[in-house]
Amino acid sequence: MKIGAALEFNLIDYPGRIAAVAFTPGCNYACPHCHAAPLLSKAADIGDKGFFDYLDTVKDWVNAVVICGGEPTIQDGLEEFARTVRSRNLAVKLDTNGSNPGVLSRLLSEKLVDYVAMDVKGPRFLWPATAGVEGHEGAMAESLKLVASFPDYEFRTTIAPVVRSGEEISFLTSQEIAAAARLIVSVTGSDAHKYFVQKFVPRKDGLLDKRLESFPETPPQLLQAAHQEAVRHIPNTRIRG
Ligand code: SF4
Repeated sequence: MKIGAALEFNLIDYPGRIAAVAFTPGCNYACPHCHAAPLLSKAADIGDKGFFDYLDTVKDWVNAVVICGGEPTIQDGLEEFARTVRSRNLAVKLDTNGSNPGVLSRLLSEKLVDYVAMDVKGPRFLWPATAGVEGHEGAMAESLKLVASFPDYEFRTTIAPVVRSGEEISFLTSQEIAAAARLIVSVTGSDAHKYFVQKFVPRKDGLLDKRLESFPETPPQLLQAAHQEAVRHIPNTRIRG
């Protein structure tokens, strides 16, 4: 599998665990607010060997591996990589944009992943704008259902600026977050999910759409208002600041 970087192990990327992080380059989406793509475009591929060599140096401290990106499910060798992590008695967390339900389904049936974090790119009608691609609505809906079947999981939405029709750019609104929460409930048939509304942080090292670089972080009042709306539909909604 292509791995652009092995990040310092930490307590943040996998709730409740100390995890080493495998950052995979490349993504099939083009979210305007993405900072990973510009960052990883220049990364050298360290491959599975480079990552597991790193893991050997920190194995006494970590009890999990997070696979993120980019979009890990577009990588050849993801399942083999997860199997190797498993064979070392480490938990596996996968961060995904939900575009590949077929891969999620295989990971689920082989029990290769313990925790999935899936991005929900706002309400359905905005997905082409928020994800930067057309035609992924069916796959994302299928993935919502699959993700809810993993042992542990979360859905999350970044309250980022959206390029709307007419080139107007403005943050996702609290009503749009409510619509995203309703969508999760209607597709999965349940409101018993962990759902995070999280802040957009403009990065100095570049975003996919340069026009968003002049935007501030998501205002705290908007995060609060989005939380208030979403919690009416998914009671376990939290703010990730
Ligand atoms: S933010 Fe969007 S473009 Fe960037 S890695 Fe995630 S899904 Fe891909």
